[in-house]
Amino acid sequence: MDFSIPAEIQTMRDTILDFVKTRIEPKEAAWFRYDEEEYPKCAEDHPEVVALQAEVKALGLWAGHLPREAGGLGLSVMHYGLLNEILGRSYFAPRIFGSNAPDSGNAEILWHFGTEDQKERFFWPLQRGEVRSFFSMTEPDVSGADPTYLETAAELDGDEWVINGCKWYSSNANGAGFGIVMAKTDPDAPVHTRYSQIMVDAGTPGLKLVRPIPVMGHTTGGGHWEIEYNDVRVPASYLLGPRGSGFAIAQTRLGPGRIHHCMRWLGQAERAFELMCAYSTQRHAFGGPLAEKQTVQTWIAESAAEIQAARLMTLHAAWKIDQLGAKEARIDISLIKFSVAKMLMDVLDRAIQVHGGLGVSDDTPLAFMWRQGRAARIYDGPDEVHKMVVARQILKEQSKKLAARS
Ligand SMILES: Cc1cc2nc3c(=O)[nH]c(=O)nc-3n(C[C@H](O)[C@H](O)[C@H](O)COP(=O)(O)OP(=O)(O)OC[C@H]3O[C@@H](n4cnc5c(N)ncnc54)[C@H](O)[C@@H]3O)c2cc1C
Repeated sequence: MDFSIPAEIQTMRDTILDFVKTRIEPKEAAWFRYDEEEYPKCAEDHPEVVALQAEVKALGLWAGHLPREAGGLGLSVMHYGLLNEILGRSYFAPRIFGSNAPDSGNAEILWHFGTEDQKERFFWPLQRGEVRSFFSMTEPDVSGADPTYLETAAELDGDEWVINGCKWYSSNANGAGFGIVMAKTDPDAPVHTRYSQIMVDAGTPGLKLVRPIPVMGHTTGGGHWEIEYNDVRVPASYLLGPRGSGFAIAQTRLGPGRIHHCMRWLGQAERAFELMCAYSTQRHAFGGPLAEKQTVQTWIAESAAEIQAARLMTLHAAWKIDQLGAKEARIDISLIKFSVAKMLMDVLDRAIQVHGGLGVSDDTPLAFMWRQGRAARIYDGPDEVHKMVVARQILKEQSKKLAARS
């Protein structure tokens, strides 16, 4: 594995870092206030955010996750991961660079599985940043970690799907143009072919945005929504991919998607680390700067080691996807999903502690990052599920070895 960063990627990283530090980070607090003061207007659609999107397009750095023919940068998973490490520093950067979740994952599956008509209607407006979207899978009444329990159903009635059910945590639904819903279309089929993904236009009769779920006491940006589907009728042609392929399509978005997430969490951890180091040299207590206390030095050293370890693990998983495909890298992806999320929480916790009362206030980005980061241990598969996947595979290989020896 080659650890060097190609010159072209390094130039992009330098440009993005400068843009994020000078054009985005100083504005974050004001954009968040817009959300709170002007709700249901959404910080993601703040006029300054939209204006910066045009600048990013002019820089040729728009929608980096997509292939070139889909208007993206056509990068490998590893190289795009290296850009995500920088984008991850700010909540707003992915939106401004055209690769915000869940739009990025929705765009990927629409590109891979959509018909020409679906691309025209859903993909291209999303790719251009003209609309936002949501992904509606998790339900309040059944386990999201084991999606074979999902109850929302879609029945074909003539040339329309009729969708009924209740979802929650549909991120970004506020102000979105459309969503992609996971619904049971074939209840009698084998469990992994029971579900399909279906597009739904915002404003379709029967689609009710019930409430944004306050996460750790806050509703941010597009929000995480509880949504009711009451006899929601959409054209039969809104089915994405073959009928019954809902889980297979979901898997396509989750492999590389987890690399993107982990690299963004690294960006968050690196920003928290910088804040911790800077503050520890400025703040004095008991006769000298905090940076001279051994406990604080230990936190700095441990954080540096954990960030480095998480970074190498994630780049290795990205490299493996590029070499062998996401299926072969399944265990590596699970390993980084839970360990990078933990690293993020540990580094953030230390950074907050070094800042004392300031750390838990909203006067630094740390408290926001902590609220956001805590959910990383739950979405895209809770820690425990990824650990189960890893342990089962290791034990399987172990018993094969033992059987071979005996
Ligand atoms: C901020 C945020 C954004 C989200 N965005 C979206 C979105 O855009 N679209 C969407 O559809 N969903 C979204 N989700 C939902 C997310 O995907 C689910 O919360 C997740 O899949 C877990 O499902 P659950 O909440 O139903 O937990 P459950 O499945 O009920 O699990 C609860 C807990 O049980 C434990 N557990 C589960 N299985 C095992 C096991 N095998 N062994 C040991 N312990 C276990 C875990 O600790 C787990 O946290 C989001 C969630 C959050 C927090």
